[in-house]
Amino acid sequence: MSGWVVVAGLGPGRESLIVPEVAEVLAQATDVVGYIPYVRRVTPRPGLTLHESDNRVELDRATHALEMAAEGKRVVVVSSGDPGVFAMASAVFEALEAGPSEWLSLDIRVLPGITAMLAAAARIGAPLGHDFAAINLSDNLKPWDLIEKRLRLAGEAGFAMAFYNPRSKSRPHQFARALEILREACGEDTLISFARAVSTPEEAITTVTLAEATPEMADMRTMVIVGNRDTRRVGNYVYTPRSAL
Ligand code: SAH
Repeated sequence: MSGWVVVAGLGPGRESLIVPEVAEVLAQATDVVGYIPYVRRVTPRPGLTLHESDNRVELDRATHALEMAAEGKRVVVVSSGDPGVFAMASAVFEALEAGPSEWLSLDIRVLPGITAMLAAAARIGAPLGHDFAAINLSDNLKPWDLIEKRLRLAGEAGFAMAFYNPRSKSRPHQFARALEILREACGEDTLISFARAVSTPEEAITTVTLAEATPEMADMRTMVIVGNRDTRRVGNYVYTPRSAL
């Protein structure tokens, strides 16, 4: 069998933030699989079939990729950012676990990408310079109670936090509730940054205190980063000192 599956991240948006290994593997692929907006970021060429699929069908998409590799195709499964961060890499391994045992001998590789959290942090300054927690605020794959618990405990433990999927139309009230919990757990003066569409022409970065933050400041293209109690401004930047008492 000469087929393979590479699970690759396309970075936060700008083409120059795609790592060279990912560009190389895309040049060798026969098939690209992924959520519609991510597949559209891949340049079409003869000999390359683009398979666009809808959101929330990650397991079907992963199974399809493994089936094609078993037939000898060279398949790249694309995610935005890094494929291991709330994205397709775990879905591919879930499909592998559920699939026929022959698939275990397939050549499967995961290539890292620049995740939205790191691209956003770099634009803000250095808000994640000390210990931090990365949390997905979507309750598609976990109960909302668990998200509340993690927010409260991470805040009380003094972690800075980075939130993926902060707010969507289908769950408009949850982010307001998240802000309430954060005010209680972290204190009203803690800085919170909203980094929207980082590395694209629509990029917008805003930093306020938790007291000033409103739910409308975030949408599904926003990365939200909450500092710890020592996170502060210097000029136009926000940074978290490397040390804590
Ligand atoms: N695998 C991706 C994350 C997928 S979850 C990664 O590693 O980046 C999707 C969420 O990522 C979005 O709801 C948003 O919170 C964040 N995101 C992705 N791209 C972004 C960008 N360019 N700017 C800001 N946030 C982004």
